[in-house]
Amino acid sequence: MISIARPLIGPEEEEAVLAVLRSGMLAQGPQVARFEEEFARVCGVRHAVAVTSGTTALFLALLAHGVGAGDEVITSPFSFIATANSILMTGARPVFVDIDERDFNLDADLIEAAITPRTRAIMPVHLYGQPAEMERICAIAERHGLAVIEDAAQAVGATYRGRPTGSFGTGCFSLYATKNIMSGEGGMVTTDDPQIADRLRLLRSHGSRVRYYHDELGYNFRLTDLQAAIGLAQLGKLERFSQARIANAAYFEQHISHPGVTKPYVRSDVRHVFHQYTLRIAGDRDEVARQLGEAGVGTAVFYPVPIHQQKQFRDLGYSDQLPVSEQVSREVLALPVHPALSDEERAQIVVAVNAIQVAERALARA
Ligand SMILES: *Cc1c(COP(=O)(O)O)cnc(C)c1O
Repeated sequence: MISIARPLIGPEEEEAVLAVLRSGMLAQGPQVARFEEEFARVCGVRHAVAVTSGTTALFLALLAHGVGAGDEVITSPFSFIATANSILMTGARPVFVDIDERDFNLDADLIEAAITPRTRAIMPVHLYGQPAEMERICAIAERHGLAVIEDAAQAVGATYRGRPTGSFGTGCFSLYATKNIMSGEGGMVTTDDPQIADRLRLLRSHGSRVRYYHDELGYNFRLTDLQAAIGLAQLGKLERFSQARIANAAYFEQHISHPGVTKPYVRSDVRHVFHQYTLRIAGDRDEVARQLGEAGVGTAVFYPVPIHQQKQFRDLGYSDQLPVSEQVSREVLALPVHPALSDEERAQIVVAVNAIQVAERALARA
């Protein structure tokens, strides 16, 4: 079975981890500092602060911007649950705005109507590795005095009009095992603002600048040098990984020709790094997934239930109707697009997709 994700780990990662083990310095230390420097360079920003996960990156970014109880944060319902949960963790309330059905990202036309006197921030998600419409989102944020916190967990190395994700607002990245680069678990926050960077460093380490002196409530969200060593080795391969994903996507774009599937839309002004290659299926999606599985092609659904319809959010009283998110959550199906795919596997995926047999849902889009 061709799996939907496969981490690429080589001798660089192995040797880097061994070197840290042998150094005897395992917790946050010189490897984390180097990783932060290099990550900031890749994102074209002055500061990067390493943390334990993408979730804690989002949470600390919100706290660093002063978001808390009584505040609202506008975000996408068509994302991983961590996007919205990071907002809840601060005591603030996620306000969901529907997505554009072409690129699955926040629909910038709908944002202003969702702004209230309580709104403090907009949190766009660069879903599947394609940047959200950052110029318009940043202009709206500026007009209303709001912070922009980018959920760039899936979009390291992507650009919007030539500018890297994570450089528009406060950028939050994940280094989870299946992301475009990884450290097992881990996260990174990027910013040009030295005050935000300082707040992030305080919050990740018990509000402490000088050991055993504590200025405010903080957490232990420190990355280890073991993880940073893996992350550094991966960051050195990021460009190669991104190019391989983009080339795999281009191959699918050229060769997939089944009339029942819609291939991803790529905006002309972005570099989409294809964390996922997501089809829309005009028919029985689960049956298509079953047939692809039988042909040896692993698939996944990101995401089968939009966040506002998760039990967790219904229990909180959310009853929003967000028709685009609800529709695409029934149609999306991701194919393997990762850089570990061989040419044979790529071809096998195309053959399997073009051979799908489904009864078309006649009035699907009526
Ligand atoms: C992976 C992911 C996160 C959370 O990152 P973790 O490192 O798993 O905590 C947040 N948002 C999106 C869109 C993600 O894909």
